[in-house]
Amino acid sequence: MATDPATVLALPKPAWADEEVTMLYDMATKFLQAEIAPHYEAFEKAEIVDRASWEKAGANGLLCASMPEDYGGAGGSYAHESAIIEAISHVGVDGFGIALHNSIVAPYIAHYGSDEQKKKWLPKMASGELIGAIAMTEPGAGSDLQGVKTRAEKDGNHYRINGSKTFITNGQLANLIIVVAKTDPEKGAKGTSLIVVETDEVEGFERGRNLDKIGLKSNDTSELFFNDMRVPTANLLGHEEGQGFVQLMQQLPQERLQIGGTAIAMAERALALTIDYVKERGAFGRKVIDFQNTQFKLAELKTEVTIGRVFYNDCVARHVDGGLDPVTASMAKYWLSDLQGKVVDECLQLHGGYGYMNEYPIARMYRDARVQRIYGGTNEIMKLLIGRSL
Ligand SMILES: Cc1cc2nc3c(=O)[nH]c(=O)nc-3n(C[C@H](O)[C@H](O)[C@H](O)COP(=O)(O)OP(=O)(O)OC[C@H]3O[C@@H](n4cnc5c(N)ncnc54)[C@H](O)[C@@H]3O)c2cc1C
Repeated sequence: MATDPATVLALPKPAWADEEVTMLYDMATKFLQAEIAPHYEAFEKAEIVDRASWEKAGANGLLCASMPEDYGGAGGSYAHESAIIEAISHVGVDGFGIALHNSIVAPYIAHYGSDEQKKKWLPKMASGELIGAIAMTEPGAGSDLQGVKTRAEKDGNHYRINGSKTFITNGQLANLIIVVAKTDPEKGAKGTSLIVVETDEVEGFERGRNLDKIGLKSNDTSELFFNDMRVPTANLLGHEEGQGFVQLMQQLPQERLQIGGTAIAMAERALALTIDYVKERGAFGRKVIDFQNTQFKLAELKTEVTIGRVFYNDCVARHVDGGLDPVTASMAKYWLSDLQGKVVDECLQLHGGYGYMNEYPIARMYRDARVQRIYGGTNEIMKLLIGRSL
């Protein structure tokens, strides 16, 4: 019987993975296996997941699980989001970009939106009618977010927005995009604001290329262009302009934890797949698992993944209690994504030449894993943030 990524480590469940969260994990796993996995090859080739899959995910409770019930969500916590994040990586449909929609984009609206904004956008995000994205990065500003050039100028009861963004996840599908823009360039970080753009309702919005990536092929990643794009001033997030940088800094820990969650779940899947593979594959009249090198390698990986899982579980417990600090979240992002890279690489090696063949899941995992050390703040930036706490 195939090793289950969810139980490949012999660890007790953390308190936050209670009955409800476990049920959600099981439900999400079944949904993704039945509704997404059979089409996943086609999505990888098309370099995009179809809109119908988002709507099905919404109908099955996989969108906005942690948003308040009053706004169409399921009223859960980050523990519920973690169940969905882990199910995605355990099933191996990592390019289905619902985690960013759920645990990055929707929370900005929940935390900083007015009642009216929440009523307008969150129920549609929960159904999949609106697909979310967040547009921070620009061709000239990635790690250094203060260098954002996109300009939003007030023009009566509208903003006139000019600029461009790149590498935007869900950028082809998204019809609700949180844009990071300068409302007062003189003030630097304090002149930065977050403005929600409903792309179906604006002029001057243009999508660029669906970018050709080495991995996460089915996740559309795009350039966006704003040419005198007119957006109502009512779409500003927060009571006043200039709050954008603070809002980003407050929400980035959850984004970093989410990347850590994907990392640990993918490492567990890599381990489970590789244990199965080496038990089947023969060489020199034995199974590959019988070589001491294989056992030592897998023993090391299982130990390190266990350490990573315990750390991640602790971060989630702290986050659910509201006590996960940005420095620890940065540690989770950097260390767990580094670990994921190492595990996937070593697991590919144990597959031999078959590991380099795209028909074996470990090959795709190798390509998909690489970006985890880059986006959400590069691992170098994470170390910079940790270093400042010393
Ligand atoms: C697949 C994918 C999806 C993405 N999704 C999104 C998204 O949805 N929304 C969004 O806004 N962005 C997104 N990004 C952008 C991502 O967050 C940036 O690529 C990332 O922050 C790095 O910025 P950069 O690419 O400009 O690299 P740069 O900032 O140019 O960095 C280049 C190198 O310099 C290093 N470096 C930079 N500054 C320092 C420093 N001070 N000290 C030490 N080293 C440093 C970096 O670590 C890196 O190694 C995505 C990127 C990818 C690849």
